[in-house]
Amino acid sequence: MKEKTQVGIIGAGPAGLLLSHLLHLEGIDSVVLEARSRKYVEERVRAGVLEQGTVDLLCDTGLGDRLRREGLVHRGIELRFDGRGHRIALSDLTGGRAIWIYGQQEVVKDLINARLAADAMIHFEVGDVRLSGIDSTKPVIKYRLDDREHVLTCDFIAGCDGYHGVSRESIPAGVLRTYHHEYPFGWLGILAAVAPSTEELIYASHERGFALHSLRTPEISRLYIQVKPDEDINEWPDERIWEELSIRLATNDGWTLTYGPVLEKGVTAMRGFVVEPMQYGRLFLAGDAAHIVPATGAKGLNLAVHDVHKLAEAFIAWYRKGTNDLLEQYSNRCLGRVWRVQDFSSFMSLMLHRYPEDDGFRGRLQHAQLEYVCSSEAAARSLAENYVGPPHV
Ligand SMILES: Cc1cc2nc3c(=O)[nH]c(=O)nc-3n(C[C@H](O)[C@H](O)[C@H](O)COP(=O)(O)OP(=O)(O)OC[C@H]3O[C@@H](n4cnc5c(N)ncnc54)[C@H](O)[C@@H]3O)c2cc1C
Repeated sequence: MKEKTQVGIIGAGPAGLLLSHLLHLEGIDSVVLEARSRKYVEERVRAGVLEQGTVDLLCDTGLGDRLRREGLVHRGIELRFDGRGHRIALSDLTGGRAIWIYGQQEVVKDLINARLAADAMIHFEVGDVRLSGIDSTKPVIKYRLDDREHVLTCDFIAGCDGYHGVSRESIPAGVLRTYHHEYPFGWLGILAAVAPSTEELIYASHERGFALHSLRTPEISRLYIQVKPDEDINEWPDERIWEELSIRLATNDGWTLTYGPVLEKGVTAMRGFVVEPMQYGRLFLAGDAAHIVPATGAKGLNLAVHDVHKLAEAFIAWYRKGTNDLLEQYSNRCLGRVWRVQDFSSFMSLMLHRYPEDDGFRGRLQHAQLEYVCSSEAAARSLAENYVGPPHV
């Protein structure tokens, strides 16, 4: 089966779907190829914190109806340590900017609905995806669907296939410089059918390790505890998770955590990863295919959105004006923000997690850092500015 499109997009995560949507609004054709089923990608529980810039882009491009109705605007977060909570007033410190709580899977559902309503080509459950000719003007994606071999010829390919995808691996050896950092901890996360015990996110530093109380809706909570990166989830029956969360989130004033049925649980290792440049020939990497940040800063989804915003601008300039400056500058226009976010995510991770090898010195530094952020307006403003994210420019 021979097919053609302007932009071939690999991956129907937030990056690939949003890119397809932004291109469609400008009359640029794309085909999205996804290895998993539609049900799987629509139910995959991951991020839930949207930066102001992400929300602005989604709303400005016609994707804001359900987000405005069901999303929860948060104007602050809490840092909790020594049994006390300290509010960081995000909006007051950033001229009114805020974060929104709206699950990544809801963003994905909205995107898929919008794309299919516009008769978009999204192929789910494709197999054996291979890229060729990426340094030519007609790159090709071969894939299998329904036991048939397909050959998709494109003007450009967008590799939006996440950290484990095939796009990055298709770039010849020696082109990319890879930066990699493994943090010595992971997160055990649960999704629970219980009303959140808090109105705003709580980031807790405790001698037994970090804990985060997040949420998805007024009825669904999302909570995490620091564990070893290779922690065996079978060692953690639900009751043990709730008890550990209760200990790490406890305050001196009797705050209590409400338990509830666990809908889903899993362990994620924390890593930092970046490839430079994020492009080669006619292949452009976006989102987790190009970079991973530890989840402590709540940034992965937001970075993916920023990347494809810049990539869409570059494709639009190429198709509308015949200019390739923005395509050439794509990596550079993204990497400044990528490293800013790596730094912020690292700052939050280092401040809040227990280090296995710590002899006490690091713990005292962390405590000093927390005290500073919670007592200095300048330090709190810096955290707030990074947390809500700078506007897309
Ligand atoms: C537990 C957890 C919590 C997180 N919390 C947050 C948070 O609070 N805030 C935040 O901003 N970010 C968070 N993140 C990160 C965020 O989820 C990711 O950064 C985001 O999913 C990146 O989007 P993406 O489209 O680049 O990649 P993905 O969402 O990974 O999408 C890539 C898609 O490509 C598909 N694919 C892979 N290989 C192939 C192939 N060979 N052929 C075809 N398709 C392929 C995959 O199936 C997938 O659907 C979290 C991540 C995890 C794991």
